[in-house]
Amino acid sequence: MTMIFTYTAECFICSEPCEQDDIASITQFDTSCNLDTRQIGFDVIPNSITRCQNCGYCATQISQGYDITKETIRSEKYLLQLINNSEKMSWFASYQTNSFLCSAIIQEEAGNYSDAGWSALSAAWICDGEGDLWDRRSETKSEGSISCRKRAMELFLLARAKGDSFSQEIAGEEAILADLYRICGQFEKVKPVCDAGMAKDPIELVKHVLTYQIILASRKDTDCHTIDQAIEHAELTRRNIESKISYRFLTFVKFLYLRLWGKFELGTKGPGGGIIIKVNASGSRGLEVQPDDCKMLLSWPDARKTCKNYGRGWRLPTKDELNLLHENISIVDGYTNNAYWSSSAINKSHAWGQYIKDGFQYTNIKKDRLRARAVRSF
Ligand SMILES: [Zn+2]
Repeated sequence: MTMIFTYTAECFICSEPCEQDDIASITQFDTSCNLDTRQIGFDVIPNSITRCQNCGYCATQISQGYDITKETIRSEKYLLQLINNSEKMSWFASYQTNSFLCSAIIQEEAGNYSDAGWSALSAAWICDGEGDLWDRRSETKSEGSISCRKRAMELFLLARAKGDSFSQEIAGEEAILADLYRICGQFEKVKPVCDAGMAKDPIELVKHVLTYQIILASRKDTDCHTIDQAIEHAELTRRNIESKISYRFLTFVKFLYLRLWGKFELGTKGPGGGIIIKVNASGSRGLEVQPDDCKMLLSWPDARKTCKNYGRGWRLPTKDELNLLHENISIVDGYTNNAYWSSSAINKSHAWGQYIKDGFQYTNIKKDRLRARAVRSF
């Protein structure tokens, strides 16, 4: 549970009294968090920064600071950030965003890149809301939230270079960087950083998060997602794999049985998923055909390729097999009135084709576009 209580603290810079909120600690990688550890629902982020009304000092603990801070808050960089209010945001969101970005400057100047990164990320979270600070799921990314995330990314990478850790969780840093890369649209960086995180063998939950980030990046998804969604995704994948394995195993056993004892029958499903139009006397071998034509009219080379794409063993029928399709129209139909390609070539430029409907066979220029129907021997 999170609790907030307000008290008066003395400003580190000017000693004026400031109202400061104190918040009970936030758990990292809780299941109800966003993928970057942000808590959903009860939002404490805006309360976690204080700005001194007298001197403009921004900090999470207003009574504390670094030796260099007195210089930093007089710098041009700091003062520009302090007054940089965006018209696109509500006054409140803009004020809080700038306070966090000011705090990031102070921490960066003091060499505390990890805290600076978290301040910039907090600024991004404020931008995400843009006045609607309570609904995390329906938000769209604003310019502000992207630029704050880029700043957080830059600071976290500086922290890493310095060996300054910004997450206590194993591979937590990789998970946070992955989320920043993805939301900023730098999709190509997501997989490498997730792989590096996986190599550290983190806890299950972090593994789910890393895997989910890779999936989201492959879909070019730049939305905020929750850790709950990552767990749900892992659960679905596990169930899918299990059902696929058991289905494949059963199919394999069934066809092994049929192959050994010969029970394949005309007009039933073949081992490649087609319909059987020919079987040998013992019923152990034969020919199956796809229930439908290849989608388009195709040249001879394209027809061969398209049939192969159905999977293992699927191909264009030979001239004789093509005639078999004509003779078995009562078992498998759906043919058009166009001519169909056979795999039987006559020479470099011509191959056999057939009107399956009426059975007429003739030779065709390979460049011509005819119909195709794949077959498979078993
Ligand atoms: Zn002050």
